[in-house]
Amino acid sequence: MAAYAYETHDYDVVVVGAGGAGLRATLGMAEQGLRTACITKVFPTRSHTVAAQGGIAASLSNMGPDNWQWHLYDTVKGSDWLGDTDAMEYLAREAPKAVYELEHYGVPFSRTEEGKIYQRPFGGHTTEFGEGPPVQRTCAAADRTGHAILHTLYGQSLKQKAEFYIEYFALDLIITDGACTGVVAWKLDDGTIHVFNAKTVVLATGGYGRAYFSATSAHTCTGDGGGMVARAGLPLQDMEFVQFHPTGIYGSGCLITEGARGEGGYLTNSNGERFMERYAPTYKDLASRDVVSRCMTIEIREGRGVGKNGDHIHLHLNHLPPETLHERLPGISESAKIFAGVDVNKEPIPVLPTVHYNMGGIPTNYWGEVLNPQTGNPDAVFPGLMAVGEAGCASVHGANRLGSNSLIDLVVFGRAAAIRAGQTIDKNSAIPSTNKVEVDRALSRFDAYRHAKGNVPTAELRLEMQKTMQADAAVFRTDKTLAEGCVKMDAIARKMDDLKVTDRSLVWNSDLMETLELANLMPNALATIVAAEARKESRGAHAHEDYPDRDDVNWRKHSLAWVDGAKVTLGDRPVHLDPLTRQEDGGIDLKKIAPKARVY
Ligand SMILES: Cc1cc2nc3c(=O)[nH]c(=O)nc-3n(C[C@H](O)[C@H](O)[C@H](O)COP(=O)(O)OP(=O)(O)OC[C@H]3O[C@@H](n4cnc5c(N)ncnc54)[C@H](O)[C@@H]3O)c2cc1C
Repeated sequence: MAAYAYETHDYDVVVVGAGGAGLRATLGMAEQGLRTACITKVFPTRSHTVAAQGGIAASLSNMGPDNWQWHLYDTVKGSDWLGDTDAMEYLAREAPKAVYELEHYGVPFSRTEEGKIYQRPFGGHTTEFGEGPPVQRTCAAADRTGHAILHTLYGQSLKQKAEFYIEYFALDLIITDGACTGVVAWKLDDGTIHVFNAKTVVLATGGYGRAYFSATSAHTCTGDGGGMVARAGLPLQDMEFVQFHPTGIYGSGCLITEGARGEGGYLTNSNGERFMERYAPTYKDLASRDVVSRCMTIEIREGRGVGKNGDHIHLHLNHLPPETLHERLPGISESAKIFAGVDVNKEPIPVLPTVHYNMGGIPTNYWGEVLNPQTGNPDAVFPGLMAVGEAGCASVHGANRLGSNSLIDLVVFGRAAAIRAGQTIDKNSAIPSTNKVEVDRALSRFDAYRHAKGNVPTAELRLEMQKTMQADAAVFRTDKTLAEGCVKMDAIARKMDDLKVTDRSLVWNSDLMETLELANLMPNALATIVAAEARKESRGAHAHEDYPDRDDVNWRKHSLAWVDGAKVTLGDRPVHLDPLTRQEDGGIDLKKIAPKARVY
């Protein structure tokens, strides 16, 4: 291997990722006086969070009655009873605080007439423990909520003197005696290598939507944190649960926010029928995402799709007043024009269910501490390592995430990680010294990809993986498609040893960077399809045609997947059923959130 010189940096905390989760964690760490670095492969405000349109859920009751118990109930039901009760309670309770903090940091929320934060309805958010009408719980800054949050948090982090390492690609974690002690990174614009030693590393690397062919997520969403964790011998959790958003623009995958249906938009089939009324009489087009995606897929499969090939569905906004479209959904009108050539004032938008969110990820407790489940202790913590945001799995979304519950997850758990780090990190203790053996291991892996002289170009293998995942691990799943998918993915993963990288340069080498990203996508994709094949029930986003019912007796448990090369080993851990607060101390009545059928 070529010898690589490297520069070292010492910090109390290193956060990998500058999306909503990474920035909220960075800000909270720096505010407490912890020496904090944030490493990011793209400029912070270009992280995928920037694309979040619809909004952020919190029971502020600005538009009518609401409370955290109702939000908790909706989250539990949305998760199809797979979320961890303590984490979901923490989310619902802390959400209002986290949103008011954002407001005070400067997020320009849309306002009501009286000047309060405006809130819109979103799928699956209801009143009276699902018995009442839909609630308006989703706080929004027009349809650019994520954009507003990122810009605000980045500015505040700079003010608190957090140090940013921008366009640095994190390669691997440094593990010393069973604890994480840093991370190795490659600086993309000058090719230098950097070793960050830290008391705690926080992974906030986002989701892995790009394991699929059609996704609403950015090309940067390649599950790098999950890849690093898998290589460190730690498991990924609940990876079989992949959310399809009902309304990706047909062809491009570009998202049309659920806020569009929140503002009154509805779906029709080729008969012009508003079919969601048939499947979900109460909440109709605002039923939970997995439900709407599945109904759309059924309509298409039964021959009622629209378009020349009958392979998509129409979303109507053309009945809405032009002022509503202009004020509440300006970005949508623009996307529909650019990506579908449609004027939303006049015509429906062609849409299709598209991969949108990964419920699974790196298992953590509700403080963001990464778990290393072992025999006898499913909740053992792996020292020095945290994970927040879409990369993590706390787990608040269980088998299916509700719209606007991710942005709130980012800020609630980014904040929680900072609070925890403030309690556990001793500012006066020594920063771990460079573990040269681990650094060499990371760099020899890097060097091997840089000089890969096999037969398969990275782009070709990536496309093969994406098409396989799209065909065999999508909305509808059967024993047959999943088993075939596992065999195909095994063969695809083995081709990682036969990659061909043509550019050997260390500076702006996108061939090498995309290869490293593919090496991260692969364990995420493998874990997803193998865990999906193993789960013999239907729950949330995992709809299995051969096992159409939820099976709480055998399957109300988190799946775990350890991935080593092409080999996947499965395990499980129990779902946390205990709340944080007992009912007599003001907590939830557990009878209210007991499992029942999930109908909307
Ligand atoms: C189009 C779209 C619209 C959405 N709308 C909403 C919405 O309205 N409401 C809602 O609640 N949710 C929404 N979601 C979901 C939500 O936006 C995401 O789940 C969330 O933004 C993820 O944030 P994150 O901080 O975890 O990761 P991201 O925002 O994806 O950021 C990941 C960060 O990690 C960095 N990174 C990754 N790998 C590396 C590496 N190897 N080295 C260095 N840095 C690395 C990147 O540079 C980036 O800064 C939407 C998602 C999409 C795709």
